[in-house]
Amino acid sequence: MAAPKVAVVGAGVIGLSTALCIVETCPSSSVTVLSDQFSPNTTSDVAAGMLIPHTYPGTPIHVQKQWFKETFTYLFAISNSAEASEAGIHLVSGWQVFKSTPKEELPFWSDVVLGFRPMSEAELQKFPQHQFGQAFTTLKCDCPTYLLWLEKRLKAAGVQMYNRKVADLWELHREYDIVVNCTGIGAHQLVGDKKLFPVRGQVLQVHAPWVKNFIRDGDGLTYIYPGIHRVTLGGTREKESWSLSPDPGTTKDIFDRCCSLEASLQEAQDIKVKVGLRPSRQCVRLQREVLSQGGVKLPVVHNYGHGAGGFSVHRGTAKEAARLVGECIAALQGSSSRAKL
Ligand code: FAD
Repeated sequence: MAAPKVAVVGAGVIGLSTALCIVETCPSSSVTVLSDQFSPNTTSDVAAGMLIPHTYPGTPIHVQKQWFKETFTYLFAISNSAEASEAGIHLVSGWQVFKSTPKEELPFWSDVVLGFRPMSEAELQKFPQHQFGQAFTTLKCDCPTYLLWLEKRLKAAGVQMYNRKVADLWELHREYDIVVNCTGIGAHQLVGDKKLFPVRGQVLQVHAPWVKNFIRDGDGLTYIYPGIHRVTLGGTREKESWSLSPDPGTTKDIFDRCCSLEASLQEAQDIKVKVGLRPSRQCVRLQREVLSQGGVKLPVVHNYGHGAGGFSVHRGTAKEAARLVGECIAALQGSSSRAKL
């Protein structure tokens, strides 16, 4: 059989990292990325890009931990290399603070991040409204920079990228042998997934270069995440809201909440507002499916529904999607050699 042609639909962090993993693990395939938007116009561009996992209630914890660990290990190696700045990956230390002691003092990811420990009394004095806290070092992606780095690596590997809106995955069956669906919230319409819903997030990006440590309220709603050039202030979680328009009242509310955690932010300059729709689901849809019409079959691998944690687990889920693509290729090769007998 000739090199199997694989189309990856979607160019957010999930589509690009999945395409890269397919190139790395299935070198005999020819990979193309098709997407109606590329960076800087994807949800992935809006994300804060912090590696702090979000929990998927429908996925076993050991699987989520494996995805996070693979992602952390991959990005940690980049952060320790000469590529770190071009890839937009850096280590960041800080605090997660709670108004009362949480039920789970050791989250499942505590031994994956670096130096996880309870905060000292001296550290807690910085947060008079909070009683308990955890200090650790994790990784942060400067999201548009990381997406461009992934695109560059794909181009260097010979992957073609085309601007195209796909109305139906079946329309690709004449041009491609396997389709990988990484369309994020777009899968709601593309494959009619009613289990997928948007969770709108509004964030501010500000110039405050003196802020070097992250601060996250334990409920995950208010956060201050310093990046390479700007600090991300969040946030909101509005279930089922499809609005991409910034809300000025919300901007003020986010700013006030962040200033109550870090008063020096009152001096922040050049406030930019961004909105994105988290592609949320009880569990990531990471599975094979075979579409079939009139005896013609099209193998599909789905990899979408990463909700609030796509950056935290992207490499782990991309590796699993690439493994599923490998299974599809083996099945195609098996049927093509049987047809020759
Ligand atoms: P997207 O980035 O939306 O990419 C989907 C791609 O598919 C796009 O290129 C789109 O154009 C394309 N597409 C869709 N439909 C079609 C179609 N029919 N035809 C062709 N192309 C199509 N996660 C973290 O881990 N850490 C964080 O700190 C973090 N912060 C966040 C803050 C905010 C405010 C938001 C909104 C999200 C945050 N996230 C965070 C979550 C993270 O952004 C998402 O989980 C992740 O970006 C999802 O990536 P994706 O590639 O699936 O989706």
